[in-house]
Amino acid sequence: MSAATTKTDYDVVIVGAGPIGAAMALALRKSGLRLALLDSQPLQDSMSLINGAEFDPRVSAITPASEALFESLGVWSAMQNSRVSPYTDMHVREADGTADINFCAADIHAPVLGHIVENRVMVAAMHQALRSQPLLDCLMPASVIALDNAPQAAVLTLDTGRQLSARLVIAADGAQSPLRQLAGFQTREWDYEHEAIVCSVRTDKPHQQCARQVFMDQGVLAFLPLAAPDNDAEHWCSIVWSVIPATAQSLLAMPDPDFCRALSYASEHWLGDVTHSSKRFSFSLRQRHALEYVNKRVVLIGDAAHSIHPLAGQGANLGLADVQALADVLARVDATGRDPADPVLLARYQRDRKPHNMSMMLLMEGFKRLYAEQPLPIRWLRNTGMRAVEQTPWLKNQLIRAAMGTHA
Ligand SMILES: Cc1cc2nc3c(=O)[nH]c(=O)nc-3n(C[C@H](O)[C@H](O)[C@H](O)COP(=O)(O)OP(=O)(O)OC[C@H]3O[C@@H](n4cnc5c(N)ncnc54)[C@H](O)[C@@H]3O)c2cc1C
Repeated sequence: MSAATTKTDYDVVIVGAGPIGAAMALALRKSGLRLALLDSQPLQDSMSLINGAEFDPRVSAITPASEALFESLGVWSAMQNSRVSPYTDMHVREADGTADINFCAADIHAPVLGHIVENRVMVAAMHQALRSQPLLDCLMPASVIALDNAPQAAVLTLDTGRQLSARLVIAADGAQSPLRQLAGFQTREWDYEHEAIVCSVRTDKPHQQCARQVFMDQGVLAFLPLAAPDNDAEHWCSIVWSVIPATAQSLLAMPDPDFCRALSYASEHWLGDVTHSSKRFSFSLRQRHALEYVNKRVVLIGDAAHSIHPLAGQGANLGLADVQALADVLARVDATGRDPADPVLLARYQRDRKPHNMSMMLLMEGFKRLYAEQPLPIRWLRNTGMRAVEQTPWLKNQLIRAAMGTHA
């Protein structure tokens, strides 16, 4: 029997229902393909539980390009009705340096540069939309424990004991991706020697819809604006503070008041004093890129394919662009009855995404190295470069458009 006519349980099984896997399932909802989505965590509760709850410490700066994808998937309004925070300005500077850059949406006649969205809000909005898709089975919670990536069909064994066969398996199971390992994908990876501390903080002064980032000797600190809860008098930001592991350990161990003081000092009192901090979480940062995105009947998307330093807030945006590209090539399957694991189709997806993801990763690595170097000439070069960008509107506007995912 040919691969195209093999009887399988599903045409496509998506493993991982985080922001990227859930978006993938929605992007394929009208494809006519028989779909299953599985995750080791249960399907998220309804959006109403989020309203009024504490901020999720994991947030993503979502570009207008990603917003457009959410809009086309019919989930952006649910996110907006829940809690998203627009930002119109971005201020980047070097600690103790003499240069900074200000990016402003008005400079390119755009209403916003992007939105800060809690990961929990993104996922809950998409899970809610997934509940009503007729051609989709949500198998949650369930984890994949074995894979037979055979020529006729891939067979997944779940920890529930069930076996599923699929013509195509999409791995969206995150940076550690057990499926990537089961399928034997090779990766190129190295440690950034940074840990990211994330939490939500209350500040004295309002953020004025400005995302702020400061490059310091020992790392990078970002203050991302959050929508004020009911009480307009309170000013909240989500922070991502990437530092060497030893510093991270001492910051994590500090009592709250000491941590707030350290944060106020490191941010040079940008928003006055930090007066409150939520529970802190830390993530080890590792750059990882799969050498190939396709292996027979398994294809990688999102962090399963690439994970990068959060300093430019691009990880989820790159994953959402993967979703768009893979959905575009799979749209041809419906019309032609082609095998969704057709190597020609999947090679097109890889050709489309891999160079782009690679160049973003190289850029982040370059930034991280540039700012880790302290010799005077390098410091001078950094400041001169920053000033040059700040004083060249054309170049600055190109950079803004690239960061927004809207350049040609
Ligand atoms: C500190 C920090 C700040 C960041 N800030 C930004 C930002 O501002 N902007 C941005 O664009 N990106 C940002 N990122 C990156 C972004 O969070 C990730 O790129 C994004 O979450 C990747 O989504 P994903 O769905 O690929 O993976 P994940 O979010 O990791 O989801 C993977 C899913 O797979 C499931 N899973 C795992 N193993 C199995 C298994 N064996 N079986 C079944 N299910 C499984 C998990 O339960 C999970 O639901 C940041 C990352 C970090 C660490």
